[in-house]
Amino acid sequence: MELTRRDLLRTTGAAAVTLSLGTLQFGCRPEGDAGTSSAGVAAVPRELPPYRQWEDLYREQWVWDRVAKGTHTRVNCIASCSWNLFVKDGILWREEQNAIYEPSHPDVPDMNPRGCQKGNCYSALMYEPSRLKYPVRRAGARGSGSWNRLTWDEALTQVADTLLDVALRDGPDCIIYDHGTTNIDFGTGTAAEIRFFNLLGATVMDSWAGVGDLPMGAIQTWGNFNADGSSDDWFNADYLLIWIANPSYTRIPDAHFMWEARYRGATVVSIAPDYNASSIHADLWLNPRLGSDAALGLAMAQVIIGEQLFKPEYVREQTDLPLLVRTDTGRYLRQSDVRAGGKDDVFFFWDEASGKLAEAPGTQGHRSQTLRLGALRPALHGTFSVTLADGQVIQVRPLLDVLAAHLEQYTPERAASTTGVAPAVVRRVARGLAAAKTGMIFASWGACKHYHSDLAQRAMCLLMALTGNQGTRGGGIRPGAWYSVDAMNEISSEVEIPFYQRWLARLYQPSARDYEGFMDYMTRTRPFTATLPFLYVHGGLKQAADRPDFNDPALPRPVAEYVREATEKGWLRVCPPADRPPRVYFYTGMNPLRRWPAPQVVREHLWPKLELIVNVNFRMSSTGLESDVLLPAAGYYEKVGLKYPQSLVPYVIFGDRAVDPLGESKSEFEVFGLLARKLQERARARGVKPFTDHYGLTRDYATFYDKYVLGGWLDPAQEEQAMDRVIRSSSVTKGFGWHDAQTRGALPIQSYGHYGPHNSICSDFKAGDTVYPQQWFVEKKQPWPTLTGRQQFLIDHPWYVEMGEALPVHKPPPTAGGNYPLRLSGGHTRWSVHGMWRDQRHLLRLQRGEPVMYMNVDDARQRGLGNHDRARVFNDVGTFVIRVKPSPSVQPGEVIIYHAWENFQFPGWTQSQVAVPSPWKPLHLAGGYGHVRYRMFGAAPSHGPRGTTVEVERA
Ligand code: SF4
Repeated sequence: MELTRRDLLRTTGAAAVTLSLGTLQFGCRPEGDAGTSSAGVAAVPRELPPYRQWEDLYREQWVWDRVAKGTHTRVNCIASCSWNLFVKDGILWREEQNAIYEPSHPDVPDMNPRGCQKGNCYSALMYEPSRLKYPVRRAGARGSGSWNRLTWDEALTQVADTLLDVALRDGPDCIIYDHGTTNIDFGTGTAAEIRFFNLLGATVMDSWAGVGDLPMGAIQTWGNFNADGSSDDWFNADYLLIWIANPSYTRIPDAHFMWEARYRGATVVSIAPDYNASSIHADLWLNPRLGSDAALGLAMAQVIIGEQLFKPEYVREQTDLPLLVRTDTGRYLRQSDVRAGGKDDVFFFWDEASGKLAEAPGTQGHRSQTLRLGALRPALHGTFSVTLADGQVIQVRPLLDVLAAHLEQYTPERAASTTGVAPAVVRRVARGLAAAKTGMIFASWGACKHYHSDLAQRAMCLLMALTGNQGTRGGGIRPGAWYSVDAMNEISSEVEIPFYQRWLARLYQPSARDYEGFMDYMTRTRPFTATLPFLYVHGGLKQAADRPDFNDPALPRPVAEYVREATEKGWLRVCPPADRPPRVYFYTGMNPLRRWPAPQVVREHLWPKLELIVNVNFRMSSTGLESDVLLPAAGYYEKVGLKYPQSLVPYVIFGDRAVDPLGESKSEFEVFGLLARKLQERARARGVKPFTDHYGLTRDYATFYDKYVLGGWLDPAQEEQAMDRVIRSSSVTKGFGWHDAQTRGALPIQSYGHYGPHNSICSDFKAGDTVYPQQWFVEKKQPWPTLTGRQQFLIDHPWYVEMGEALPVHKPPPTAGGNYPLRLSGGHTRWSVHGMWRDQRHLLRLQRGEPVMYMNVDDARQRGLGNHDRARVFNDVGTFVIRVKPSPSVQPGEVIIYHAWENFQFPGWTQSQVAVPSPWKPLHLAGGYGHVRYRMFGAAPSHGPRGTTVEVERA
């Protein structure tokens, strides 16, 4: 048997070769055989590999045909890193970090080298057996594992015909498009697929909250949430709280700035129930009980207010704490209270300068849209009498006084029984934070996955506001943000933006409030739906969501009652509605039956309604196995790409087509272009006429492709041309073109791009400095996009009042799962980015090699469980089996599973999400109140997998 090197690598994977030397020697000619040479590849016939010993193979890794630039374009790793990709004989051999980053400022370290171990073995993953290379359609029942290979034409024809069938019979909104969060770039590929589904009129899934990543507490306080800067700005922090986070796992290319900040004297505090990989770098570790973070934050706030450690000028200008609150109702004093016909969105201070009531500028309804106080000096303390419009005299107090009284229930001594943290430690941290020049809280997406995460985040926001840190260099909470690639909208938008409007948009700088209003418009006029309400209506999750014992016991009404009211008032809209079930589920990259709560329930209720389930993906996933048609996507190194520009690195990172797509795989840009062409062809062949969809929009599928290609520049065969246009016409990359991107791999940003669903940085671009968010509000004095125009801590919406959450409070986590003694928690894993690398063989060797649950040693011992034993984990919702790793770093009562193991890696293919009901907080359906309302990516009930109650026994 003779193998060419190309055959060998394609069948076993380049990485596997180095691990299988015996096989290699067996397959090659014996040493000394004629025709072999150690002189180099050129002297050797290509079909006869020159390798005789493992050293030859090793040395060959350093000889290549070309070096291309690349990155992991569509993976959701919250980073962007440029790589050199080494290519030989059409095989991607290896990658190496591309160290091209300049320091942002002379006083901060540079970003070199950027990368992680996942990225560093993508060259192995792309050749592994999980790779999809040909279009296939299932031959047996869903999940049977039986597939028939299709030609691309057959696959596209079958898919296009079903899309037309459903759109014409049920309405195009019965086609669900879900790009999730795991497979998006900000370049031509994602934009093209969004354009396809927008033109089709399909329902677009808003999955931000559906993956449990939406920082609702930040939205409730600031009116938006995607506010972050560059990671080198972490170096500017003097006091850094790493709270419900583990950047050593989740921010591998960036975490070093936190540890390096300690060289300039910064204090780093880790706040986590477990002693994790980031805690080891901290000066101090606080281990509150799971789900008690709000109580801890409020205890620190109590110290800061009680000891008068807050920054009064910042508080006066940037927060609602000076606004007057009625002592009789606990609500803000409004203009409508004191004047007949007055507004509900104009509020008051007590002005110490004049000794009178004064309207606060910058509120939603105020004529003056600035936070500048001028001669006003709002009182922070006192009780004042006010005469209402009906002649009644009432008492009012600044919110700060009301809050101080409220926080008396959270003194460090009182909070200690909830948190388990010693009062002296709480005081030490509160005082340290208040005394620091700049203070920062790193609490990212993982801090959004608890039922009451919003309360913890509101407490964190309060700490940052009291200490004057939010919106400052090196300060504030940093949930995450992306620089916008403006031209992506040109592609994805269904409506072609007229030339003059594009120019007007460049001249007029809308405020954050204007932009949020635009999100409302988009949400109202298009089929757009949030994941969990969708699954509540169509996916069988109503049963778990409605269970009172899975929810906050303090809820005054059943969940279903809140759903009914929110629906009636138009705060909640599910597309398609309950009487028109979804018929097609078309997803790209993401892996819903691994990630959604109680996937076995969704599989039972949603799957039978679907006539067609299509996945475009480069690899087989747990959900792919349960789908109907798989369309193979080119891998990250096989297509032109633009990695989403996460704000942590002030560069836009690009990927080139270093090698040809494997098998018959194609880039998403090409796939959706071809599908658009096929849809038009089939519509014409079937004589499809224009019609009006359920949202009043005309759909003409007979001209679908003509419209799709935007006058020709979106030609599916010309992706580089499209990418060049995107780069040239986006403010973030202005002055550059595709050739620059292709040869350098990374372009320094030229702006932060426009405000949008991924970008509420709200700062003006400044070259030669680190990036920090929210300067528009703090430095330029623009109002925050909240009802009061300030960071808002009192939300006197009737639902917030009735649920006891008008002010930030602590509430214990509900017993979601039933009455069981342990709490199942988790985190983003170190060894994969979501499910993408979960079964990658090199990375499996760095861990247990199969799903594992960390458990406190005493809890394990009490249950007779030792290291690597198999345990059955169960509750009222589901049961699964997993290996146990007893660890002293885990708190008693907590068990931890780092996420994204594929279903097929568990015994019986039953994964850990089967026990996660993830009831959602009905409060998050509230609307009709300033910034408290659903809009695209702007608010929704969250997937809250953390804190599920379970019991564990030997399997
Ligand atoms: Fe960087 Fe993400 Fe690639 Fe890792 S996977 S090297 S963090 S871009």
